Formats: sequence, C-alpha cells, structure tokens
Amino acid sequence: MIELQNIYIEKAEDKVFFKADCLIDNQLQVLWFSTDIANEKYISTSNADAFILFIFFYAVFENLEFKSNVPVSKRLKFGLLEVLLPAFQEMGFKAQPEQFSFELEDDSLYPEATAVGTAMSFGIDSFYTLIKGNGSIQKLNYLTLFNAGAYGNYGGDKAKELFDAMKNRVDTFANQNNLGFAWVDTNLNETFRFPYIQSHTFRNFACVLVLQKLFKTYYYASTFSINDFRLTQSDPSNYDLLNSKAISTNSLEFHITGLIENRIDKTKVVSSNEISYDNLNVCLVTSDYAGASLATTAKNCSKCEKCVRTMVTLDILGKLELYKSVFDLNIYAKNKNKYLAHLLYKKYRANYVFSKDIFNEAKVRNYNIPAKAYYLASMRVFQPIVRKLKH
Ligand SMILES: [Zn+2]
Repeated sequence: MIELQNIYIEKAEDKVFFKADCLIDNQLQVLWFSTDIANEKYISTSNADAFILFIFFYAVFENLEFKSNVPVSKRLKFGLLEVLLPAFQEMGFKAQPEQFSFELEDDSLYPEATAVGTAMSFGIDSFYTLIKGNGSIQKLNYLTLFNAGAYGNYGGDKAKELFDAMKNRVDTFANQNNLGFAWVDTNLNETFRFPYIQSHTFRNFACVLVLQKLFKTYYYASTFSINDFRLTQSDPSNYDLLNSKAISTNSLEFHITGLIENRIDKTKVVSSNEISYDNLNVCLVTSDYAGASLATTAKNCSKCEKCVRTMVTLDILGKLELYKSVFDLNIYAKNKNKYLAHLLYKKYRANYVFSKDIFNEAKVRNYNIPAKAYYLASMRVFQPIVRKLKH
C-alpha cells in the first residue's frame, strides 16, 4: 500500500525542492523533485501529478494499492485510469481500478504556461527533435535535462556527477541557441526501484509535470517507429503514442516526435543542419562518467557500437567530414572495412534493423562497399562453425 499524504516546497541554497510525504508499507518516505531556484515560480502546487504519475506506474508494475490525499489533475486522472489502465491489463498486468484512490481532483488551468520543450542529450533523436521543433507551428523554445534514471538506473553519486556535467553542457548549448533551459532532479529512482528501460517515459514525463506553469507542450523523441507499436511490458517506447495521449494535464500536452522516420531519415535531417556538427554525441563510452566530466564539447570514441553505426551512416550520406570535430576520422579511415563488416554481419546474423536500413541507403546512393568488408563479414559468420570444427 502506498499513500501520498501531502506536498510542499522547500528551498536550499540555489535549489528548490518539491516534496511529498509518502507512506510506503507504513513507512514514511520523503519524495522529492528539485530544480533551479529560478524555476520555483513554474512549479504547480495545486496538484501532485508528478508524484502520482510515477507512483501510479510503480503500483501497476508491482500490483499495489495506491491512495493519494493530494489532488490530481482531472485530465491526468482520466488518462491514467480510463486510457492506460485498460492497456496495462491488456499487457498482462493484474492491477484493477479499485486499487487506486484519487478522490481529490484539480481543475486548475495554467494559461501562463507557454514553453515548448524537449530533452537534450546531444544524440540523433535529440537533434532531430530540436531541428523539427525549430520549424514547427508549435515552435520549440526550451531544452530540458532530467536525472530520472538515464544517468544510472537507481540514481546515486555517479549519476549525480554525470548529471551535473551534462547540466553545464546543455545550459551552455541552450544559451548559444537562444533557448531556455530547465533541469529537474529527483530521488524517485532511488525510492522506487524498477528498471529504467521499462519505465523511462513515465519517469521523464513526471519531471515535466513538476513544471506545469512553464510547459504547455513537450516533445518526447520516439525510440521506435509507429510500425513497431505494441502493448508490451518490456518497453513503453513501443506504446509511447498511447502514453502521450493518456498523460496530459488540464494545460499540458505531450507529443512523440519521429514516429514515421527511421534512423537514417533522422540522421539525414540532423546532418543537414549545422547545429549538430560540433555537438553530436552518440558515444556509449564518452557519455560515461570519465568522459563527461572532462569534456565540455562532445567527443566520441569513434569505436563503440553507436559511434560505428552513426559514422557509417554519415559516411554513406556523404556527411561524415562535417563531423570531424566530434569523431576521429583517422580511426574511421583505418577501420572502415571492419565497421562495414560488423554491420553487414549484424544484418545477416541478427537481422539488425539499423543495419538493414543502412545498407538499403547505401544501395540507393551507389555507395561502394569494398569486397574486403564482405570478406571480413563472412569470416565472422563462419567463425563459430570453424571453432566447432576445431574441437
Ligand atoms: Zn563511442
């Protein structure tokens, strides 16, 4: 049983904390979101939506009762109980409407909320959303960064350090591009432990709901295309379109970007806009602790899976040279055949969708794949068989 008792604001130095007292199995826990003190005026205290959204999903996943003594936005209550709960039941979760008690409803409207925001992580999805948002009828004017699990599943010191380093980078980038910037930190990851991959949409949306007097629209980058829409317990990305429809308040809407385009299409859009040339950071290695605290600009290792995939794509698109300040093009030149072989291998061996798209594009553009790459790929395909024969 989880009971949300009250919400309140506390200030500490340059931060403001939006807190909630919560009974979890009769133990009092203090939950919080925090943000820069300058954002205090944007925090909506007429409802506990941010906490309720996060806890609602936890309660569904763990099949627990959840009672809130603090109001919830009427629109959000509708979305959670009448749109998403039936979908969760369809996925096989056992939760029933009777488990949720949200008696107090909030009808507040926040007409002062005018910002249109999205997250910035300097990857392809972020830049794609930024570039599309810049040209949108609902023009993007705010960037965000949330410590809701992306920097370590369960929070902790390492996640905080990485988060602080990223905060400086996004803040600088936002300033350079005349965009607002807001960060939100939270201890909900540490309190409710469940895997990030199964819950990322809800965690990130919850952070947006803290700032209901700021945001009227929030863009969230899709991981999968609409063709992969699926109700599954393993990853909300598969049903983000439904999440964006259900999770809404009286004044705030979420939109999923890039539902139609594949990764090649997104990379095309990104690579035709100079905003990404000195800032793209797709790397799995340098986005980790050491790299991030050292780097003020994006540096990619040019060797990891995501670097390889992105560099090969940019090369096929004829745009790799434009990214010479963020990728090591010497490493690429030396290893190009190996990288192509790796992606070819994954295409044939694992039916890897990114590889398929990459080589389709190569074909369309008459991009020459050297015989050496095919040879190296075939060596990898036969390797397990050779190994078996030796024994
Ligand atoms: Zn890398």
